[in-house]
Amino acid sequence: MSFTTRFAPSPTGHLHVGHAFSAWTAFQAACEADGRFLLRLEDIDTVRCKPEFEQVILDDLIWLGLEWEEPVRRQSEHFDDYARVLERLRALGVVYRCFKTRREIMEDIARAPHGVGEVYRGPVEPMSADEEAERGAAGHPFAWRLSLDRCRDALGARYDAMRFVEDGKGERVADPEPLGDVILARKDVGTSYHIAVVHDDASQRISHVIRGEDLAEMTPLHVLLQTLLDLPTPVYRHHRLLLDENGERFAKRNQSVTLKSLREHGVTPAELRARFSG
Ligand code: GLU
Repeated sequence: MSFTTRFAPSPTGHLHVGHAFSAWTAFQAACEADGRFLLRLEDIDTVRCKPEFEQVILDDLIWLGLEWEEPVRRQSEHFDDYARVLERLRALGVVYRCFKTRREIMEDIARAPHGVGEVYRGPVEPMSADEEAERGAAGHPFAWRLSLDRCRDALGARYDAMRFVEDGKGERVADPEPLGDVILARKDVGTSYHIAVVHDDASQRISHVIRGEDLAEMTPLHVLLQTLLDLPTPVYRHHRLLLDENGERFAKRNQSVTLKSLREHGVTPAELRARFSG
């Protein structure tokens, strides 16, 4: 498979210096490998994502000097594909409807013998399939969670054998246990970042996922989904996060470091890129 990577911003705000570093890192890697660079707009959150942010993101990336293959993939145009993925996971019997409120979940976690942080490890007594279906049909709100117990049962030895290659660092064990039973879809939004990203990385034939180390903890979950769905596992590279003068991560809410405002203040792309080294 030829080297193909992507930058996948969510148009919920303007891009900041940290995003620019991420986009540039992926773009440079594609150039160095004489590979392909794709752009994907992760806009499944139709409430927070706005077309005006999308336009500014495209302008920012052009200003930065990036070039990508057309067409740009918009996840909001592929909800049917993600619904099909959820259907497959249901058919495999590895997801369950969770009707608990956030408060009930916190109580369950506090009661669990080895409760860690906010990780939910699933119900102590699983609800019967009939009751689950009945409550769903009665319109109670719920979230679809991936049951690690059921994944282990469904995959057998393949569960413990899950691995991925961390670019430049070799093979890593993919252990999703620290994440617990993650939400894969809500009743109102029939998908999640996890389903959409795993589906799209496969359908866009991404060979190398290059993204910030803040997402590294999700990679074992993505490898688990790939294993369940018989999808290839790309190579992963989790790059360092760029920090501001105060040693803090750049955040979308800090308007002063958006690429838009830097552009408007006459900063050149070369000046910005100079901040990426070191
Ligand atoms: N859409 C994600 C974000 O903006 C990036 C997902 C990824 O690169 O896997 O943080």
